[in-house]
Amino acid sequence: MLCAMTVTASQHRRPEFARALINATLVAAMSAPLFGAPSLLLAQTTQRPANAPATTPASPPSTDVYLVPLTPGGAALPKVGAPLNVTHRAGYDNQPSFSNDSKYLFYTSTREDAQSDIYRYNFSTGLAVPVQKTKESEYSAFSTAADDAVTVIRVEADSTQRLWRMPNSGAPSVMFPSVKPVGYFAQADDSTWALFVLGQPATLQIAHTNREGTETVARNIGRSLHRIPGTKRVSFVQKGADGWFVMSFDPATKTIDTLVATVSKNSEDVVWADSTTLLSATGSKLFAWKKGTATWTEIGDFGYASLNSITRLAVSPAGRGGQWLAITAVPLKRPAAVPSRAYPDDKIDPRSIQRGIDILAGDAMEGRRTGSPGSARAAQWLMEQFKSVGLAPGGDSGTYLQNIPIELVAPVNIPGANAGRAGGGGGRGGSQPRPRALQSWAAWDTLPAERRVKGSNVVGIIKGSDPVLGNEVVLVTAHYDHLGISNPIAGDSINNGADDDASGCISLIEMARALRKGPRPKRTVIFVAITGEEVGGIGTSWYLAHPIRPLANTVVDLNMEMIARPDSLVGGFGKAWLTGYERSTMGDLLSANAMDLVPDLRPGQQFFIRSDNIGFASAGIPAHTISSFNLHPDYHTVRDNPNTIDAAHMANVISQTARALRFLADGPRPTWHPGGQPPAPQPRVQPPRGN
Ligand SMILES: [Zn+2]
Repeated sequence: MLCAMTVTASQHRRPEFARALINATLVAAMSAPLFGAPSLLLAQTTQRPANAPATTPASPPSTDVYLVPLTPGGAALPKVGAPLNVTHRAGYDNQPSFSNDSKYLFYTSTREDAQSDIYRYNFSTGLAVPVQKTKESEYSAFSTAADDAVTVIRVEADSTQRLWRMPNSGAPSVMFPSVKPVGYFAQADDSTWALFVLGQPATLQIAHTNREGTETVARNIGRSLHRIPGTKRVSFVQKGADGWFVMSFDPATKTIDTLVATVSKNSEDVVWADSTTLLSATGSKLFAWKKGTATWTEIGDFGYASLNSITRLAVSPAGRGGQWLAITAVPLKRPAAVPSRAYPDDKIDPRSIQRGIDILAGDAMEGRRTGSPGSARAAQWLMEQFKSVGLAPGGDSGTYLQNIPIELVAPVNIPGANAGRAGGGGGRGGSQPRPRALQSWAAWDTLPAERRVKGSNVVGIIKGSDPVLGNEVVLVTAHYDHLGISNPIAGDSINNGADDDASGCISLIEMARALRKGPRPKRTVIFVAITGEEVGGIGTSWYLAHPIRPLANTVVDLNMEMIARPDSLVGGFGKAWLTGYERSTMGDLLSANAMDLVPDLRPGQQFFIRSDNIGFASAGIPAHTISSFNLHPDYHTVRDNPNTIDAAHMANVISQTARALRFLADGPRPTWHPGGQPPAPQPRVQPPRGN
C-alpha cells in the first residue's frame, strides 16, 4: 500500500462571497410572525426534537450519519459522490457537524441507556468516542473556531434545556443561564448567537455573550440555523401558512431577507456549501440552490445507497482530503446476505500461506524494491507458483512475465527526511536508486547499461468457459514490490513487506489453486502480481498501456492488499473491508452473495486511491481493494516481518475471496454508482516529488 504522504489531494477553494443580496426585503427588528398563524413545530417534526427528555419511553427513530464527498462548483453547482454510512448502528445517530480542522465528525448518539451524548468520529482511525460521557443528554454539537470545545444543547437534570460549552477536557459551562429552553443555535460572530427558543411559537432570539437579555427577531421558525459562510449573518427557516422560506438575518442592521422557499413543504433542514450555495433534501434526493436564482436543482439521488428521509446536513471546511457533506438519513433494510451455495467451500491451508510468506517476504528477497535483484527473484518465485497451481502464462512471448523498461535514477538525498525508514514514494530508500518508468523499450535502449533495468508484472490466466462471457476479463491483482533495504533498526535493514503486500500475492496463488480445483469460471480470470506500486504505480500504468486482453472487456479488478492481520474495527478474525465500497455495486454484490465484507470506515486514510486499484478505476473499470489493514505500527517499517502474520485469519479471508472471485467471474458485472467513478487522472505538469 502506498504511503499517505505521496497521495496529493486536490485542493478546493471556496468561491468568493457574493456581492449583492438578491431579495432586499427590509424588515426591521420583527415583533410579529412573518407568515400566518404560528404552528406547532414539535408536532411537525419527525425526528426527535432536541427538547425531548432523556427519559422518553418511545425510542427515537433509527437514523444514521453518512459522509458524502463534496466537490465545490465555484460559480456552478457542487457535485456529490457516493454516501458512506459511518455510524451504521441501530438507534439514533443524528445532528452531524465537523471540526474546523476537518479531522472529526461530531454527532448525537442515543445509546442503550436512552442517554444522548456527543460522539466524535475520527476520519483516519474510523473510531467514534464520546467527547465527554455525561449524566445529562447533549445534542447538536458545534465545534468552536479553535476546536477546543463543542457548543451543545444540554438537557439538564430538571429537564431545563440550555446552551452549554463543553471543552475537550474539563467541566462544561452554561453560556446564557437565563435563556431557556433552547433547541438549536448558530454563532454569527465571536459574541453574537442566534438561538431557537422553544415555545408556541418557537422564536429566533439573538443573544450576546457580553450583554444581558435577548432580542426576539422572528417567530415560528424551523430548527435549521446557520451562520452564512464568510459573513456575520445567520440563516433560518421561516414557517408559515404560505410555505416555508429560508431567510437571512443580519444582527448588525437587523435586516431580514427572504432567500428562497424550502425544497419541499417538509424540508426543514438546509446547509450552506459556501457563501452563495445552499443544500437541502427531500426523501433520498439532494438539491442545491444558488444565490441569485429562484429554484433548487437536484444534484444527487442516494436511493441506490439504501437510504431515505434525509434530514440534517453539514458541510466540512475544505481540507487536505477534500470536502465532505454529512447527512442524516434513515437506512433502509437490505435483503439478508446469502452466501452462494453454488460454489464449493474452499479449504485454504494456513501452513501453505505461512510457507509462501516466509519465502516471498524472506530476507533473501531483500525487500523486493522495484528494479532490484531481490525483486527479480520474487518475480521468478511467483512465476513458478502460478505455473504450479495451473495458471496459463499471460506475459510476453508465452512467458509469465510482462517486462517493463525502467530507468534507475540516482537517489535524492533529503537531509533528515524519514531517517531509518525506506519511505513510500521512491527517493528515501537510503542509498537505493529510484526506479522510474519509461514509456517504451526504444527509450530504454538509449540509456547507459548501468541505468537500465527490467521490471516485470507476473501474469497467469484461467481461460473462461463461456463462449460469450469468456471474452470478458476479471482481473485479480496484488503488488509484490516493496521498499527494499533501508537504514538498519536494531540490526534489521530489510523491509520484508510480509503484510504489504506479500499477503495479497499469496492470496492470488491460493485463489488460483482453489479456482483450478473447482468448476471453471465463465469469464476469463487474469491474475497479476504487480510491480512498482510503492514507487508510483509503474506496473499498473504499464499494464493499462499494454493490457493482456482489451480493457473494454475488463469488467472488474479485485485488488488484494494487506490482509495478514485481523482488523478489530470490522470484527477481527476473518473479516475484511473494501475500499470505495459505496462507489459501485461490487461491495453489495459480494457481501450479499459471497463474503463478509464491509465498507472501509477510515475515509480520512484515502485507501481507495492508495493501491493499484485506483489505476484501473481511473480507467473506468470498477476496481476496489480488499484489505484488513488495521493501521498497525509496523506498516512501512523493517518490522513488517513474516513472523507477524496471522495465517489462520488469512486462510479464512482467502476462502471467502475465492468465492467472491467465482461470483465476479460468473455473476453480474459490477457498475459504478452515480458520482462513484474517480475522474481520469490529469496529465502531470511537474514530475512527482521524491517522497
Ligand atoms: Zn506499501
